[in-house]
Amino acid sequence: MTAHLRVENLSKSFGPTRVLDGISFAVPPGRFTVLLGPSGSGKTTLLRCLAGIERAESGSIHLGERALAQGRSHLPPDRRDLAMVFQDYALWPHMTAAANVGYALRRRRLDREPSRRRVAEVLARVGLSDHAEQFPHQLSGGQQQRVALARALVAEPGLLLFDEPLSNLDADLRERLRVEIATLTRESGATVVYITHDQAEAFALADEVGVLEGGRLVQLGSPEDVYHRPASPFVARFTGLAG
Ligand code: ADP
Repeated sequence: MTAHLRVENLSKSFGPTRVLDGISFAVPPGRFTVLLGPSGSGKTTLLRCLAGIERAESGSIHLGERALAQGRSHLPPDRRDLAMVFQDYALWPHMTAAANVGYALRRRRLDREPSRRRVAEVLARVGLSDHAEQFPHQLSGGQQQRVALARALVAEPGLLLFDEPLSNLDADLRERLRVEIATLTRESGATVVYITHDQAEAFALADEVGVLEGGRLVQLGSPEDVYHRPASPFVARFTGLAG
């Protein structure tokens, strides 16, 4: 199911430091939004609030009609109809690729055979049919990230979150996986929030680009808009136009 993501006035501090400062944005169903910003601008904290791993102090998050976080109510990560892909893959080291992917289906309570078929289908989509029975340490970084991508897609979540998924890969592989992520997420119909500090990656992937500076969302628009009509000297500099 695809769904509209709405984030309203989200704020969070760590001690005296305001890390997210009144963040509001929306992602229409099935659209791909990239949040771009330098290190320390709050990207990971924002994504972790969406995932439910971190709690914001104020503001709200809705996915479709459901409140994921609002006031004191806060749905746990596994009840949010979302999946996340991490920079360091975060696979279970003691499970095969197929078992890692299958683990994400546990809440579906499928019978063994339909579950096995669905896992095989998704592993085939990421080109890993021949590696289903291998363990993470037997796979390359790119293959591990493909397993993580399959795990994120297998239960057909409404929202997909990506935390700098290409940062640990070399340039060649980064380019290939970027294309695969674009294709597979669009096929899935999921609403996507993807964070990166890499401008080229952001502009290549995004339907909309949001730029974060010091915990504030300082611009949100189409890649063309952000690139050609930066809202501030910071955005211009950071997206590579000025200087
Ligand atoms: P980004 O992903 O853009 O690099 P982060 O969300 O990781 O930004 O961090 C934003 C700011 O919050 C940074 O100044 C970071 O040091 C601080 N921060 C992040 N997590 C914690 C934490 N658990 N405790 C204290 N400060 C944190």
